[in-house]
Amino acid sequence: MKKYDYLIVGAGLFSAVFANEAKKHGKKCLVIEKRNHIGGNIYCENIEGITVHKYGAHIFHTSSQRVWDYVNEYCEFNNFINSPVCKFKGEVYNLPFNMNTFAKMFGVSTPGEAKRIIEEQKKEICGEPKNLEEQAISLVGREIYEKLIKGYTEKQWGRDCQDLPAFIIKRLPVRYTYDNNYFNDRFQGIPVNGYNELIEKLFDGVEIRTGTDFFESREDLLALSDKCLFTGMIDEYFDYSLGKLDYRSLRFETETLDEENFQGVAVMNFSEREIPYTRIIEHKHFEFGKQEKTVITKEYPAEWQMGDEPYYPVNDERNNKLYKQYENLAQKEKKVIFGGRLGLYKYYDMDKCIEAALRICDKEF
Ligand code: FAD
Ligand code: UDP
Repeated sequence: MKKYDYLIVGAGLFSAVFANEAKKHGKKCLVIEKRNHIGGNIYCENIEGITVHKYGAHIFHTSSQRVWDYVNEYCEFNNFINSPVCKFKGEVYNLPFNMNTFAKMFGVSTPGEAKRIIEEQKKEICGEPKNLEEQAISLVGREIYEKLIKGYTEKQWGRDCQDLPAFIIKRLPVRYTYDNNYFNDRFQGIPVNGYNELIEKLFDGVEIRTGTDFFESREDLLALSDKCLFTGMIDEYFDYSLGKLDYRSLRFETETLDEENFQGVAVMNFSEREIPYTRIIEHKHFEFGKQEKTVITKEYPAEWQMGDEPYYPVNDERNNKLYKQYENLAQKEKKVIFGGRLGLYKYYDMDKCIEAALRICDKEF
């Protein structure tokens, strides 16, 4: 007799949804997590009464009624709308690319004037855009590409924009209205009591061992259950037998400042190559905080090396091809379900991650 129905590797959002659904269906799970806390990358810490997003800014947004209803069962969301700004050589521009950006960049005021300039600039791209550079120019023209996209993207991904897939930039809306909302989704907000509440409630009543790495006692752990959900790195699961997948890593530098309001906005991006970080987060603005002090985090992108946190999969051609080969191996592992950003090697936002987890649960339970 196995002791558990499921061994769950990783205590991030994907696992939390899976564990919650398993619990509802009377399944017994053991969760193991190598970090010393649960929540994966949405984990928050409290500093000076401010909820600090320890692994980078996390804004919840979705167009799925099912996902929105699901998360609202466990926590209340505030009415935060992400409206970041991008700084380039001392000038600030609104994001995403919209009439406020075009007005400042081109000195225009109507959509017709902005369109004419962008249409003219994008003439240099013929046919379907083949990479991120071509995609960006065909969306917003060369000037915005060079000032607000090229430097940011090349810092973020450590690769030339000509070597990056077009889809990365298609995530950003381009609008001919004066609307600074970074997302197009119907629902948006930040949990009023932070993301930890959501995670804790989803995992409520489930046995969890933190500080436990799957690879340190893989066989013993697998022997405990009938099935396993694995949300770690898929290439590591297969001992890198087909080669290593690339990831992008990040370094976060967090400081508490003796002032009330440092930058006046939750997220400020820096698109100059010479500035080594991509953005500064001022956490209190996510929750309209009025504390005397403020906490800011600078986000420095880094190439991933063994032992670093793998924050982003790099979904370029080489890596997608290699992932497909790992996926073939994964399909042969009948006892193991692969999930999450790392197990599926996908650039998932939280809502997509929840959707994917619920889809697997629909099949499993
Ligand atoms: P993770 O959160 O990575 O959880 C996986 C867990 O598995 C980790 O805790 C890890 O320690 C553990 N683990 C791995 N290997 C092992 C092992 N061998 N043994 C034991 N445990 C292991 N989404 C949004 O919707 N909005 C945003 O604004 C947003 N901003 C983001 C900003 C950044 C900087 C990053 C990196 C992501 C952002 N996301 C955002 C995406 C969001 O973080 C993910 O969708 C979500 O956290 C994915 O959850 P997960 O469970 O798949 O992965
Ligand atoms: N991007 C950019 N300039 C910016 C913000 C974003 O060029 O000021 C590009 C960049 O390539 C980035 C992509 O748009 O990787 C997607 O941005 P998003 O904010 O969605 O990225 P995330 O931080 O969520 O990975």
